[in-house]
Amino acid sequence: MRTPVIAGNWKLFKTADEAATLVSGLIPLVKDTTGVEIVIAPVFTVLDRVSKLTAGTPVKLSAQDCFWEEEGAFTGEISPKMLRDAGCSHVIIGHSERRQYFGETDETVNKKTKAAIAAGLTAIVCVGETLKEREDGIMNDVLKRQVTKGLEGLSSFQAIIVAYEPVWAIGTGKTASDEQAQDAHKYIRQVIKETFGSAPAESTRILYGGSVKPENVKGLMTQPDIDGALVGGASLKADSFGAIVNFG
Ligand code: PGA
Repeated sequence: MRTPVIAGNWKLFKTADEAATLVSGLIPLVKDTTGVEIVIAPVFTVLDRVSKLTAGTPVKLSAQDCFWEEEGAFTGEISPKMLRDAGCSHVIIGHSERRQYFGETDETVNKKTKAAIAAGLTAIVCVGETLKEREDGIMNDVLKRQVTKGLEGLSSFQAIIVAYEPVWAIGTGKTASDEQAQDAHKYIRQVIKETFGSAPAESTRILYGGSVKPENVKGLMTQPDIDGALVGGASLKADSFGAIVNFG
């Protein structure tokens, strides 16, 4: 009942020509894939170019961030409306790298999420604990805060996807074990249930992110509360991302 989502977060990689090469390599590998929502998130400057290549294919387009205002005197920002205009259907919000390096907070995540869904985008809202928070035994408190504050005040969860990305597993080659990931996903679903109700808890897709590769995706995907993956490094090569998309 929850369609799996495999999303590629390209981070700060790929110029326009490199992006075109990657997408052109990916499309033949996934064009006949069914039962999986496929999303890629390139940098802003190549969205328009990539959207022309993905048109008419099952590959959907996401941005990696957005601002919360529609337009105005906000130099350097990009609004959800403009992302729609550039061909996006999705946007990643609150990635741990943005929280760590660019001052993203639960409050800004909340504003951005509301603005994104109001503009008709699906928001992929990222949460996850650092290694220190896990070792200090406050992982569940952190996840609860990020989920309840980040999603506070939402009246609909239809356009919400949550991504659980333990910070210690991102780009480190250290994947959470299937059980560690399942435990966190189960807890997040429980928090959604307690805070927002059973219907959103049951329908919201919760993706795992952190060193997902073709070799470990299947074990993760067989966990009952894991509904997909947010893939960084392995999404930068058509064959590895294609293999992850075709995990079944
Ligand atoms: P990774 O990144 O797959 O390279 O660990 C995941 C992410 O940051 O979304």
